Amino acid sequence: MNGIVYIVGAGPGDPELITVKALKILRIADVIIYDRLVPQELLEGLNAELIYVGKELGDAKLQDYINELLVRKAKEGKKVVRLKGGDPFVFGRGEEECIYVLRHGIKCEIVPGVTSAIGVPTYARIPVTSRLVESSSGFTVITGTTKDGGLISEEYIPRKGTIIILMGIHVIDELTKVLMKVRSGKEKVAVIEKGTTKQQRVFTGTLNELPEIIKREGVKSPAVIVIGETVSLMDLLTLKE
Ligand code: SAH
Repeated sequence: MNGIVYIVGAGPGDPELITVKALKILRIADVIIYDRLVPQELLEGLNAELIYVGKELGDAKLQDYINELLVRKAKEGKKVVRLKGGDPFVFGRGEEECIYVLRHGIKCEIVPGVTSAIGVPTYARIPVTSRLVESSSGFTVITGTTKDGGLISEEYIPRKGTIIILMGIHVIDELTKVLMKVRSGKEKVAVIEKGTTKQQRVFTGTLNELPEIIKREGVKSPAVIVIGETVSLMDLLTLKE
């Protein structure tokens, strides 16, 4: 009899930010197939076979390999967990894997996770929306680079509201130029590297300074960029010594 595949979000970095449901599934798993962004602590002390499939950007062959691996293990009757950083459907390709698995007649359950797009700013004390500042009645989450490796187009950049950018660090010069076609260079920005982990670093400034901040501080992926008025609330949300 076929097993089952669970597509599971691991949360943004702090291992305690996984859901109770996801944790229960990890404990009964026979196989766990996981990515680079999954907190390593979550994998300790489990009985499952652990398979690392750390992805590089746009590696199509690796995705085929992962899809086939999910199906092969499930056909052996195993409970297979596909564990992904954040939420599996937010730039996570969890939907592609789920469709592939279902096409092979295997059951697939989905467990959402705390996405870095919201969890990382919140943990760093930057609300993605707020009534306390202007122009923050909504937020937009975008990727720096699209699936064909190109830069995100200007049409995705809203004129108002908070902008949250994932996978933007490696294209920061070009990305900032696109952002500044729509938004003012004086807008507040924050860059949060390795958010919610012990190595978290947060830098703030203005949009026109964004490339300089990233280069000066040597910010590396994974990092979330937040643009908008709510960045200024970080200060008010922090206890002064
Ligand atoms: N499915 C994931 C996102 C995958 S795309 C989610 O919902 O969070 C990978 C991007 O997510 C990274 O390039 C980075 O922009 C962001 N990211 C993931 N974890 C992060 C972290 N702990 N701190 C900062 N950014 C993070």
